[in-house]
Amino acid sequence: MNKIIVLMGVPGAGKGTQARLLQERNKLPQISTGDIFRELAKEETALAEEVRAVQATGKLISDDLVIRVVHERTNRADCKDGYILDGFPRTTGQAAMLEKLAVEQGKKIVAIFIDVPFVELEKRTTGRRICPVCGEIYNIYSKPPKSDTVCDLHPEAKLTHRADDTVEKIKVRLATYEQETRPLLDYYEASHRLHRIDGTRDPEVIYAQIEKIVMSTE
Ligand SMILES: [Zn+2]
Repeated sequence: MNKIIVLMGVPGAGKGTQARLLQERNKLPQISTGDIFRELAKEETALAEEVRAVQATGKLISDDLVIRVVHERTNRADCKDGYILDGFPRTTGQAAMLEKLAVEQGKKIVAIFIDVPFVELEKRTTGRRICPVCGEIYNIYSKPPKSDTVCDLHPEAKLTHRADDTVEKIKVRLATYEQETRPLLDYYEASHRLHRIDGTRDPEVIYAQIEKIVMSTE
């Protein structure tokens, strides 16, 4: 399809699920800057050396260096028919550099924002319960166990709740995301390329919408 899909959404919006579906069904690799940097740490190239030198100083990796790293990764064979970007671009400076990269690679950028309102994120997070025996994940709002407090398969085990799944923590996560991502959303909106998707729908419905948008972008 020859597209660069920029997937955006707050933590818990279901970005990971959509990236996985896109990867499985369209054979598009998901390129995450976190993964690239982890891989680079093991490599012996000039670029890897340069990244290590910056990391050793404790300084932030510059936009220029990040884009060179993304450039090197996305010029590999598996990306020739397109790819999904996760965690990049993070700034409008990086977004501007990505435009140049897209032109050079002959690809179109498709920016997709999976939008989930706060109340929904709150339910997804604070409603989560986990079986300590089998790891099955329930949600008291959307996927409740047969009995309130225990796993369907392990009635002896009381379901647990993760300590960081609190309303306060979600608020902090959201505020941070909003602050970092708002300029990017504005950036793509300004050039009429931002597609907002209702993230409260079923994952398959969301996927169908994403696929339609990607296919119809010329
Ligand atoms: Zn269980």
